[in-house]
Amino acid sequence: MKAVVVGGGIIGTMHAVLAIEAGHEVVHIERDSRPLSASIRNFGLIWVSGRAAGAELEIALRARRLWEVIGSRAAIGFRAQTSLTIAQSEAEFNLMLAAAAMPDAPARGFRVLDRAQVQAHEPVLQGKFLGALECTQDAAVEPNLLLGGLRDYLARHDRYTWRPNFEVVDFYHDETGNHVTDLTGHKVSGDLLVICPGSAQQGFLSEFLEGAPLRRVHLQMGATVPFAANLGHSIADADSMRYYPAFKDLALDTLAPQDPIAAQFKMQLLLVPRLDRSFTIGDTHEYEEPFSHEILEAPYDHLRSVISAIFGAPTPAIERRWSGNYSQFVGDGIYYRRELAPGAVVVTGGGGRGNTISPAIAEETINSWPK
Ligand SMILES: Cc1cc2nc3c(=O)[nH]c(=O)nc-3n(C[C@H](O)[C@H](O)[C@H](O)COP(=O)(O)OP(=O)(O)OC[C@H]3O[C@@H](n4cnc5c(N)ncnc54)[C@H](O)[C@@H]3O)c2cc1C
Repeated sequence: MKAVVVGGGIIGTMHAVLAIEAGHEVVHIERDSRPLSASIRNFGLIWVSGRAAGAELEIALRARRLWEVIGSRAAIGFRAQTSLTIAQSEAEFNLMLAAAAMPDAPARGFRVLDRAQVQAHEPVLQGKFLGALECTQDAAVEPNLLLGGLRDYLARHDRYTWRPNFEVVDFYHDETGNHVTDLTGHKVSGDLLVICPGSAQQGFLSEFLEGAPLRRVHLQMGATVPFAANLGHSIADADSMRYYPAFKDLALDTLAPQDPIAAQFKMQLLLVPRLDRSFTIGDTHEYEEPFSHEILEAPYDHLRSVISAIFGAPTPAIERRWSGNYSQFVGDGIYYRRELAPGAVVVTGGGGRGNTISPAIAEETINSWPK
């Protein structure tokens, strides 16, 4: 069958990958000359540790297995990069002990490490901390390589066509199939259509998405110069446990009040070592529109102070800063899927774990198609 996939972000690209592997012909459409949205602005984390118990953890684990396979086929920098969530106080450490005793802790690969065990893994961590929660199911890819690497893999199949600079402004369905058009009237048609617009939900889509339980979230991030030593783990601070639903039933009220800047900007520390040894660091969260148009310095001061406290050394200089938006489904379920017409769907709303679960979302779409 011929499938048209709109959106060159990770959700669209994963649809293209799984559709090609299922034997379909794929035309993959993107409005920009190369994708510039959330999927290249993120940490590249495949973050299983924070997922809510039940269906959300299940889809994340399924996706994690798919990432492993796809990562072995495409040059995307996939690595099983275990995470360490660092406890800087006794209350945080006790919370991690409770997390490691949760019924689904083995599925998440949770284990509490004391300070000496953390330092046996990561000798460069010489700051003030008591231990860490390890998650062996977490992993990472390189956002700078990801989409291009997947498209290089797709281009090995002559059933794949990449159509950048094609902004879809309309869609219709008739007895011959599903059709999308751009402003100049160019048309691309297929039997099947998947629209993966990320947070760009205006224009022709607003008719379908009016009132949908979706919100946009705005984040601020940064990247440092390369670090002097190798770091093999992604690092989080215990503020992350305040936000991730995996920990929502633990005694979060035993934690000391959050640092005022972290609380104001709804922050946690996530630090991901890149293949060039730089660190991607973040992040802030803004939920109310209109979003701030400025990159503010206070959150970076906070990140620097947390990183320095964990490493016991100055934070490497921050050399790049950026912001990004993702679309988050706030209804009952994990992401947003809506049928527009027979064989045509819109899929978005993966939220802050859209990268993590993207292959499993795509698999659900492809499994629903006629064989
Ligand atoms: C700063 C930040 C950090 C994050 N960190 C993580 C993380 O570490 N792990 C994780 O799991 N998730 C993370 N996320 C969330 C994740 O990045 C997103 O959920 C995911 O990238 C969304 O992918 P997408 O393909 O739906 O959207 P996008 O990446 O926004 O892609 C949508 C694409 O569709 C194109 N498009 C839109 N409309 C049209 C149209 N009409 N015609 C043609 N093309 C169109 C756009 O140009 C764009 O390229 C983060 C997000 C942000 C912003």
